[in-house]
Amino acid sequence: MSDASPVRTSALLASLDWLDHAFLPAGMAPPEEIACGHQRHTATVVMAEEAFPRKQREADAVIATGPRPVAVYTADCLPVLIADTRQRNVAAVHAGLKGALAGVLPQAIDRLIEAGATPDSLFAAIGPAIAPCCYELGEEMLNTILVNPLATAPRWFTLQPLNKQAVRPQARAAHQGVWFDLPALGRQMLLDRGIPAAQIDILPVCTYCCAEAQSSYRRNTHFSDGYALRYSWIRRKA
Ligand SMILES: [Zn+2]
Repeated sequence: MSDASPVRTSALLASLDWLDHAFLPAGMAPPEEIACGHQRHTATVVMAEEAFPRKQREADAVIATGPRPVAVYTADCLPVLIADTRQRNVAAVHAGLKGALAGVLPQAIDRLIEAGATPDSLFAAIGPAIAPCCYELGEEMLNTILVNPLATAPRWFTLQPLNKQAVRPQARAAHQGVWFDLPALGRQMLLDRGIPAAQIDILPVCTYCCAEAQSSYRRNTHFSDGYALRYSWIRRKA
């Protein structure tokens, strides 16, 4: 790979010494022993035992109550890693726009709470994903978001925001739509379930214009650079 392709981490999650986590670059293999669903943009949450060996179950969020790492694979969707400091349980959530609107984030949080978490014991990190600098949506899709009761404070821009961290050109406007803030939608859903703002981290990395060239599905539909999934994983230290 010609680009520098760093393994990224969240400073917030790294401050919890009982866990390990990583947002891997496109194409890097995750740990062999991960539990991971066969992702379908649903709100289905399973336990790690049900998602190991990987992809044997359809699920978009996986929770571990033991030391097995749980993972999601993403392109432009949100990879969200969640840690419960009370029970030391962890979750990996795949939340694209469709899965987020289906409720995968609140479902995952509810399962962690059933397993003994409280909202204020949860820490979450939203990894590299497509950002409003490159995520144009048509009016019809925006209207779908606006009527969804889970989207309590959707954020978008009518003018394409400039991303000063961009390492390659931002997406070009294609359909006179709006520039939607998907990471902010994920954050708002975590806040709405009671996670304190100080316990939510967003990595400021747009997969289209800031990350390695292979990481954006949408960019690849524009340029065909090749495209490879990015795994994000989290585990309780044994
Ligand atoms: Zn961008």
